[in-house]
Amino acid sequence: MDIRENLELVLSNIAAAAAKAGRRPEEVELVAVSKTFPVEIIREAVDAGQLLFGENKVQELLRKTPDLPAKLRWHLIGHLQSNKVRKVLPVVEMIQSVDSLELAYDINRIAGELGVFPKVLLEVNVAEEASKHGFPAHKLETQLEDLLQCDRIEIHGLMCIPPISEDPEDSRKYFVFLREYRDKLEKLAGTKFPVLSMGMSGDYAVAVEEGATFVRVGSAIFGKR
Ligand SMILES: *Cc1c(COP(=O)(O)O)cnc(C)c1O
Repeated sequence: MDIRENLELVLSNIAAAAAKAGRRPEEVELVAVSKTFPVEIIREAVDAGQLLFGENKVQELLRKTPDLPAKLRWHLIGHLQSNKVRKVLPVVEMIQSVDSLELAYDINRIAGELGVFPKVLLEVNVAEEASKHGFPAHKLETQLEDLLQCDRIEIHGLMCIPPISEDPEDSRKYFVFLREYRDKLEKLAGTKFPVLSMGMSGDYAVAVEEGATFVRVGSAIFGKR
């Protein structure tokens, strides 16, 4: 595995997909998903210039960060249990996976106690799969007002994980849905949600074509888990 080469390839694919859609490559940021990989491997990505990483488990994240440079930026991209909020808030730049009103309330309360204003994304269960976390689309709409009253939380946008598929084109309709749903929520809320986190190793180019501002790419950089 040549991580530098993989990173360069992913970044050039992002740039090409952005150009195809008439977007600038700087509008899209790569989150390198380092879950299950050890710090030695993550350091190779850092040496190649990657500073933004995503982890899906709080324990694993907290184990890794002390052994890595403080300049790294971390996003939590997996389901967060309320009893881990206090530990994770000081470590992450963003929680991409706020998937219920109850969790938002817990983050809001603990952020108040810690004196911080966490940045979050709301995870939408776009295909309403029972196996996945996230707000079912209709629920987010009805809970938006309550979410906006969490005055300690900065809601930057939406995140989704479409159903697993071999064909990246299968994801396109879900990415379009997330973008259009974001537009609808912006109108309802009267505020902007500029961030769309969508696209993984198999379908990030399609996601960029459909407006992703974060793509979360693991195996295309680090190899099979
Ligand atoms: C693991 C994971 C990714 C990256 O998946 P790859 O297919 O390895 O690129 C992206 N997003 C989330 C939420 C993940 O858990």
